[in-house]
Amino acid sequence: MREYDIVVVGGGPAGCMAAKYAAKAGASTLIIEENSAIGEPVQCAGLISKRAIEESELKNIGSFVNRELKGAIVHSQSHELRIESLSPDKRAFAIRRDIFDGELAKAAMDEGAELILNSKVKHVKKGRERKGAKLTILAAAPTTSTGVNLEENGIKANVVIGADGWRSGIARMAGLTVTKNFLNCVQIEGQYEIHEPVADIFVGKTIAPGFFAWVIPIGETTARIGLCIDKRFSPHPNPLPFLKRILSEHPIIAAKYKGTQSKFTAGAIPIPTERQKTVKTEDGTGILLVGDAAAQIKPVTGGGVYYGMKCGKIAGEAAARACLERNMELLDGYEKRWQEEIGAEMAFGLKIHRLRCALGDKDFDRMCQALSKYDMIQRITNRGDMDYPSFVFHELLKNPNIFMLMAKSIIKYLYAKRKIR
Ligand SMILES: Cc1cc2nc3c(=O)[nH]c(=O)nc-3n(C[C@H](O)[C@H](O)[C@H](O)COP(=O)(O)OP(=O)(O)OC[C@H]3O[C@@H](n4cnc5c(N)ncnc54)[C@H](O)[C@@H]3O)c2cc1C
Repeated sequence: MREYDIVVVGGGPAGCMAAKYAAKAGASTLIIEENSAIGEPVQCAGLISKRAIEESELKNIGSFVNRELKGAIVHSQSHELRIESLSPDKRAFAIRRDIFDGELAKAAMDEGAELILNSKVKHVKKGRERKGAKLTILAAAPTTSTGVNLEENGIKANVVIGADGWRSGIARMAGLTVTKNFLNCVQIEGQYEIHEPVADIFVGKTIAPGFFAWVIPIGETTARIGLCIDKRFSPHPNPLPFLKRILSEHPIIAAKYKGTQSKFTAGAIPIPTERQKTVKTEDGTGILLVGDAAAQIKPVTGGGVYYGMKCGKIAGEAAARACLERNMELLDGYEKRWQEEIGAEMAFGLKIHRLRCALGDKDFDRMCQALSKYDMIQRITNRGDMDYPSFVFHELLKNPNIFMLMAKSIIKYLYAKRKIR
């Protein structure tokens, strides 16, 4: 039976980055991916920051960037808020996730990680060996190209990194369920009238309850159009009727959308909780969760690529150290480090998300109107950061008008907090 120090389940951005950093640190590392190609099927709007591109450490940016975007326009029912960044450092990029993820996997393999495709991990079980305990990873797959029968024999490892996305079977197998709440999302690509390279964001309970809709230009005449809903605040749990409605009835979207559709995708984004547990150690073995499997996403925007890669690096390094030093207690350092890096931001984002869930269309209008004032726009432009949005929210609360608006929403927020955990 083949043995590795570390098996990473899932070849998305979090898993590839974890594998890259584990292999780089000297641990024998294998990625097991259930799909036949890395990065497919795509379930993402592909909007990431320049910082996220830097975090990816990929050089051939032109191969996966669709378009550079200079800002965003937030539309409420009767107002719009234009946030444009003059600094190239704050720009965002629409990317092709299939190519991006493929490049991340190649980078992991360049560091020595191995990859098995077409193999869905079904079971992780602990067994005792002569040299100590090991995890056996069994996957539903016939004999692979490398000659390993994963179904019968499995693969052994000291550490399993569950980077298997929002449905994470590894989290369930390890008893590490991190969240029960998800945003339900749908998206299409279609022909769209585009005047400038900005992302359009549409807020409102009637448009996308508990979240927002987006139009992201990816070419001169093509855009990704999608939305997510938080079903706890929606009259029904399916986001598709909301998408159909904005495509046919929204005054801006329906006027610009040309009716052609391709690449329909439906997926989910985990909503983190305050009680995340992402490490389990037992008898000299360890299981870590990373990326969507650990609900490491930004609750304000739903973005998970940047945090997934960032936490993947920490997970890969911690797992390699634990294996090489034969000390599984070192794995606890992973949870401590990722919490230090993004825990406060996620907790603050969660509060903003709850507040947003409680707001009605008129509240969004008032908010957009108040924020449209020149000094507010300046603050948003100067301090706004799509990866760390709490900076700008703290800044905005210094304005008495915004503070009063938020204060009025507190009652709704408290009501929302009672309704959701
Ligand atoms: C509609 C939509 C739009 C989004 N837009 C954005 C955006 O614009 N920007 C952004 O940053 N984020 C966005 N996200 C979130 C982003 O896609 C995720 O946060 C990100 O993909 C998480 O990366 P990951 O590596 O943790 O998981 P994933 O990318 O989901 O990768 C998990 C991998 O594990 C594999 N896998 C699962 N189970 C098994 C198993 N048992 N055995 C083997 N392999 C398995 C899967 O096939 C998959 O390849 C969006 C999400 C959705 C649904």
